[in-house]
Amino acid sequence: MSQLIQRTELKTVYYTPVHCPFCGVRVMGADPVDETRITACSHTLFIAHDTAFEYRSARLDENLQLDGMTEQEVEARWMQDERGIDGFTDTVSVADAIKVAAYAPSPSAYGSYYGFAPIE
Ligand SMILES: [Zn+2]
Repeated sequence: MSQLIQRTELKTVYYTPVHCPFCGVRVMGADPVDETRITACSHTLFIAHDTAFEYRSARLDENLQLDGMTEQEVEARWMQDERGIDGFTDTVSVADAIKVAAYAPSPSAYGSYYGFAPIE
């Protein structure tokens, strides 16, 4: 029985740092100084924003059947979702997964998305 990822939205204090609900690590996307640097814990399924995934775990790739795909193929997959990466990551069905969606207010309407799941 696969349940879809449970969503939490941040719309007012959207800029608050996001911490893993299972171990407390502060997770971050790419560092603006070193864009290759990602902080993710072992529970992190993904870190994404509206135009790209910054981090995808092996569990995410397995769950969304992205194994073996090129970055271009992965992008083509989420672009098929009318809500883009936000909609695509709502289809994650890893057990007890939690997603935090942080939306900057319009007109920027920029979203950041973090997914976590406990390890069995
Ligand atoms: Zn964690």
